[in-house]
Amino acid sequence: MVVKPKVREFICTTAHPVGCKMNVKNQIDQIRQEEKIVNGPKNVLVIGSSTGYGLATRIVTAFGAGANTLGIMFERPAQGKRTATPGWYNTKTFEEEAAKEGLYAKTINGDAFSKEVKEEAIEMIRKEMGQIDLIVYSLAAPRRTVEDGTVYTSVLKTTGEPFTNKSLNLKDNTVSEKTVDCANEEEILHTVKVMGGEDWMDWMEALSQNGLLAKGALTVAYSYIGPELTYPIYNHGTIGQAKKHLAKTAIEITERFRDQDVKGYISVNKALVTQASAAIPIVPLYIAIMYDVMKKKDLHEGCLEQMDRLFREKQFTTDPILDENGMIRLDDWELKQEVQDEIMRRYEIVDSENVTELADIEGYWDDFYHMFGFRIDGVDYEADVEL
Ligand code: NAD
Repeated sequence: MVVKPKVREFICTTAHPVGCKMNVKNQIDQIRQEEKIVNGPKNVLVIGSSTGYGLATRIVTAFGAGANTLGIMFERPAQGKRTATPGWYNTKTFEEEAAKEGLYAKTINGDAFSKEVKEEAIEMIRKEMGQIDLIVYSLAAPRRTVEDGTVYTSVLKTTGEPFTNKSLNLKDNTVSEKTVDCANEEEILHTVKVMGGEDWMDWMEALSQNGLLAKGALTVAYSYIGPELTYPIYNHGTIGQAKKHLAKTAIEITERFRDQDVKGYISVNKALVTQASAAIPIVPLYIAIMYDVMKKKDLHEGCLEQMDRLFREKQFTTDPILDENGMIRLDDWELKQEVQDEIMRRYEIVDSENVTELADIEGYWDDFYHMFGFRIDGVDYEADVEL
């Protein structure tokens, strides 16, 4: 079948099997060409391993540090003429490439929040891996079902009052004002239930109770803070409340498992186009302007470069470099004064007429299409492919 992109605003409902394969292979090759990471992790569990930051962490730990990895993801395989989701193709390629190097790489496709998936993971780790020395929590999920059947749904809203600002219209790349509504107490609570740290702690408990946490193991969850411009929708919004809960959980993990010398960290990463971030209102225009500014200053990074920097420059597994709040700051380049001053200058004046000059609209969409395996060099998009 010939597979074409079918884009509906911030989502593409098709994925190209060969494009996804090539995209992941290119990233693996990039890491293969670098020097090996010394004192990296050996046995890694990545929760949310198939796309975005989780996949990048999996690639860097496996191909950069030679780690065995177990991934947890929630992806759909192909059905009839319907393509699989990109994470499904990404993971297949990851596993094939890992096998070539004799690296253990298995993946559970299911709901990470559920007891069943946790039990399956515990069984696999016990039988096939041994103790885990790094747990990466990189879930970006719209909802969570808990054991009693209650379903919590996360929302991307402000808290306090509604917020209006310029926003990129993903349908036609025009700029117009958009208002983001204010969440009620229940919506805030639901978002914290889904994107906060409760489930992260459950994973840690499950590993610990089964004796599968290595002494001195590390765990990290990913967060975002961003500039004041996006505070109303991000840092002070519903998602920001969840991220604060995540940060509190990192501290609780360190305390709870102190006798095993386990440490919980938050890594604050850069804003990038992923399936999760494309859905946040107002953020895509900020990202497109930021891309242009950072590329011109030669400071731009993707998920892979960010995760590579986590293990090398930020010395995550040896002697992590932290800010005054104990967090790892991979958003340090994004938040440089000179970068933010230039973004703010452009944000003030950007409109539908000048947006292609002031923002990297091409770069935004390139990253977007790449996620689904499109616009990848060397792929014949007219050819028939097997799904
Ligand atoms: P993503 O959408 O690319 O990845 C999400 C991953 O979670 C996928 O592997 C998906 O399969 C998995 N997943 C979702 N629901 C699941 C479930 N119920 N069970 C099992 N797996 C499930 O997102 P991302 O942007 O890489 O985000 C990962 C983390 O990084 C999030 O916590 C996000 O807030 C954070 N972060 C993102 C950015 C950004 O700009 N993209 C910046 C900083 C921090």
